[in-house]
Amino acid sequence: MITRRLMLAAGVTARFCVPDGHAAVPRSNVPMVVLDPGHGGKDPGAIGVTGTYEKHVALASAQELQRQLNATGKYRVELTRTRDVFIPLPQRVTIAQKHGASLFVSMHADALTDHSVRGASVYTLGDHASDAQTAALAVRENSADRYAGPGFRDAPPDVAKILTSLVRQETRTGSARMAHSVVNNFSRDIRLLQNPQRQAGFAVLKAADIPSVLVEMGFMSNAQDEAALRQADHRVRVAAAMKSAIEAYFAALPNAAG
Ligand SMILES: [Zn+2]
Repeated sequence: MITRRLMLAAGVTARFCVPDGHAAVPRSNVPMVVLDPGHGGKDPGAIGVTGTYEKHVALASAQELQRQLNATGKYRVELTRTRDVFIPLPQRVTIAQKHGASLFVSMHADALTDHSVRGASVYTLGDHASDAQTAALAVRENSADRYAGPGFRDAPPDVAKILTSLVRQETRTGSARMAHSVVNNFSRDIRLLQNPQRQAGFAVLKAADIPSVLVEMGFMSNAQDEAALRQADHRVRVAAAMKSAIEAYFAALPNAAG
C-alpha cells in the first residue's frame, strides 16, 4: 500500500503506528476495513424522538454492513465494538491501527436541534468546519468521551507528528475520495442531506495514516429518519449503499484489490 511505503520511506516503522507498543497485525493482500459503530454502553448517543438509542442503530447497521462485505469475499472486516460497550474515541482509532486498517468507517445517526433536518451525510476530518451545523455536530460527537469520567485522559501518542505531511495528505485525499463515493452511492437509493459531504474536527477521524469517514445515516432528531432506521430492511439498503461505496473506493485505488 502506498501509505505504508511512504511511511517506511520516512523511517516510520509499523511499531510506531500502534500506540501501545504491540506489534501490528501483518497485512495480507486482502484490505482490512474497520467499521466503528458509534457510542455504546453508558453513552447512548442521540435519543430519537420516540426513544430509539443511536448506539443500537449504529451497531445493527455496522453488523449488517459487515455481513454484506464478508459476503463479497474481498475484504477482511472488523468492528471496533460488537457489543453494547463504551469505547473512548481515541481507543477506536487505536483499534483500527492495530488491525492495520486500510479504511475506517464510523457509523452514526445523530441529532440536531433542528428536527426538520433529515437525510444521510458523510464527514471527513477538516481543520475548519465546513458549516455551523457540522461544527455543532462535531462538538456533540467529540463530547462522547465525557462518559469516560474525570480519570480518563485523551493522551494517545500523537501519531501525526511522526508521519510526513505527504502521508497525511494522501490520507486526506483517500478520505475525501471515500466520502465522495458514499455520496455517489447513497444518491441512488438513500435520501441525502443538502450538501451531504462536509468536514470538521471529528476526534474519531484523526488516524494520520488511515483514510477515515464518519457517516450519519440519518438523524434521530427527525421522526421520519428515526422510523426508517428502526427498520431492518432500511438498514439493509443503507448498508448495501455503503458496501457499494467501499467497493468503488477500493476498485479505484492504484493497486486495486477489486
Ligand atoms: Zn453519533
